[in-house]
Amino acid sequence: MPPELFDFQNGIHAFDAGYVRHQLAAIHLIVDQGRAAFVDTGSNASLPNALDALSRLGLAPDCVDYVLLTHIHLDHAGGAGAMMAAFPNARLVVHPRGARHMIDPTRLMAATEEVYGRERARELYGELLPVPAARVIETTDGMVLTLGRRELAFYDSPGHAKHHVFIHDRAASGIFTGDTFGISYRECDVAGKPFLMPSTTPSQFDPVDLRDSVEHMIALAPEAVYPTHFSRLAPPRPLAEVMLRRLDDFVRLTFAARKAQPADPLPLLKEKLAAFMLAEARAHGVTLSDAEFFALWDMDIDLNAQGLLIWAQG
Ligand SMILES: [Zn+2]
Repeated sequence: MPPELFDFQNGIHAFDAGYVRHQLAAIHLIVDQGRAAFVDTGSNASLPNALDALSRLGLAPDCVDYVLLTHIHLDHAGGAGAMMAAFPNARLVVHPRGARHMIDPTRLMAATEEVYGRERARELYGELLPVPAARVIETTDGMVLTLGRRELAFYDSPGHAKHHVFIHDRAASGIFTGDTFGISYRECDVAGKPFLMPSTTPSQFDPVDLRDSVEHMIALAPEAVYPTHFSRLAPPRPLAEVMLRRLDDFVRLTFAARKAQPADPLPLLKEKLAAFMLAEARAHGVTLSDAEFFALWDMDIDLNAQGLLIWAQG
């Protein structure tokens, strides 16, 4: 069954990448004047969902002008090669630090196998297809591309990763935030209010840069933000305030864990993050059982703890 196609009535659509579980990762599709751009790609296995979304909007694969990557972590960029092979007119738009890894994905796959283990990495991502260099556009800070009649502006947004950009869609007053604005699963919404947590994944997380990048987004006064995990959030300003406060708490817990267990702080930090997140979720009004809550967040807690410690030890 093809996934639901969300229509935000401003040329922006979203659908489930089908990555790991229901509504873990979104792929956004911007359409203007019959021309299309995807924002992030999920994995190779997401391509059928992307083709289905196009056809439901009456668009052919040759209507796709761009595949836009917020960054090259593989839940975002793992399907880029497959999409580029399927969309003959598309150009791949990516931060200059990520471009060479899309042209030759060997090192990216090796690094991913290091984090996930070889077998799990293969199972999640399959074979990454290289993208011809001639079809790659490297972003510059403030660069603007035109899709149909709308302008898309790209800005460097370090903090989650150094190869991260955010994309400002001025016509829609929306920002595609990748992972910089944090992660919010729809299962934790309470009366329409989202529950948002920072994403501090290894190995380039930096809390000062992250704060600056989020403040840059807020200064553009968007009506909504569109994080990859999972799609539209509004209004952005109060959500950013809560997320950045939680980021400060993450940093505080990291130093506390290092002080208490200097030899191996990772298990204690995971415990502290889990307890903190659950307490925040309960205060937000989340009524999922503890087991249901951690089924959603366990992978993020693990990655967040690792990224925080790599930063703190750097
Ligand atoms: Zn992600």
